Amino acid sequence: MPRPIEALIHPDAIAHNLGIARQRAGDARLWGVIKANAYGHGIERVWPALAVADGLAMLDLDEAQRVRDLGWRGPILLLEGCFEARDLELCSRLNLWHVIHHDQQIAWLAAHKTHQPHRVFLKMNSGMNRLGYTPQAWRGAWVRLNALPQVDEISLITHFSDADGPKGIDAAVEAFVAATHDLPGERSLGNSAAILRHAHRPEVRADWVRSGILSYGSAPDFPEHGIDHWRLVPAMTLRSRVIGLQDLQPGDTVGYGSTYRADRAQRIGIVAGGYADGYPRHAPTGTPVLVDGVRCTTVGRVSMDMLAVDLTPVPQAGLGAEVTLWGHGPHGTRLPIDEVAQAAGTIGYELMCALALRVPTHVAPLPEGALP
Ligand SMILES: *Cc1c(COP(=O)(O)O)cnc(C)c1O
Repeated sequence: MPRPIEALIHPDAIAHNLGIARQRAGDARLWGVIKANAYGHGIERVWPALAVADGLAMLDLDEAQRVRDLGWRGPILLLEGCFEARDLELCSRLNLWHVIHHDQQIAWLAAHKTHQPHRVFLKMNSGMNRLGYTPQAWRGAWVRLNALPQVDEISLITHFSDADGPKGIDAAVEAFVAATHDLPGERSLGNSAAILRHAHRPEVRADWVRSGILSYGSAPDFPEHGIDHWRLVPAMTLRSRVIGLQDLQPGDTVGYGSTYRADRAQRIGIVAGGYADGYPRHAPTGTPVLVDGVRCTTVGRVSMDMLAVDLTPVPQAGLGAEVTLWGHGPHGTRLPIDEVAQAAGTIGYELMCALALRVPTHVAPLPEGALP
């Protein structure tokens, strides 16, 4: 028997979550963001569910090739654009739309011999200060792009730094609208947090929204809101089993560094799951986990292949007991990845993307009753 850890990927959850995005986005079209191999879920595994989106957005040219190979004929957007001039050949060949965020990309395009002109998304830096032109410089870039015969259509794109938090998006939206109001072209502003929190504003919905993390069943504004609030459903379950038991006496310690010390007699389960599987090493004592669907907590340090769980809430659990590290548990239970991430000082995004290659991963239907 293989080591009992496994990941289950639930395409039905993605289809449901994209439906939530669509409800909130009104008439706007939906980019399904599938960078990082669909946030660690595997593009091919979740393929049929993704195909309900109107377009697919990603970073890697290799991922673009893969979705064309899967038969996708709809729009594809490269969110970071081209990385070198010859990437434009693939854009021409596969009909990829691409972001333009610096002058060199414009120069490559101006030198590119293309039969079919390109559809580009000109990126405005609306305060994130990561990629794109400041609102002042953005107009000049638009004029230069507009003069190129290689350019067919210019769309307008920005990305919010604070759609999930208290600072909000007002200043960014204002800057974007002020710089673009008199220009033609489709617009795309909102990511998951903006879809959930700000899409009642028509200028935020605009023509296209970009659904990333929400598609996979993690709340972008956790802990202010959790997945129940947004009616999202986890698309990844990481589960394992108890492979060892220890009866601790008061004063006994657990794991490397003896960071946990029992102050009473206590039974703990040793679970086949550690940081080499993608479970966060920084998850401290007290991180939530389900054993036979009952909420328990970890004790001591996470090691490469194992972690320890306090079995006090499940006295009947023994060797082979089912352990849900995140996602769907037995009997309709679930543990949102956001709760594990928060305990470990990170975000659901990072845990999904870090699922390790060594974990056997299967496509599985959602458990009965998992859809709200
Ligand atoms: C990753 C990304 C998104 C999706 O963000 P989520 O927070 O996962 O919804 C949208 N737009 C751009 C430009 C991105 O890089």
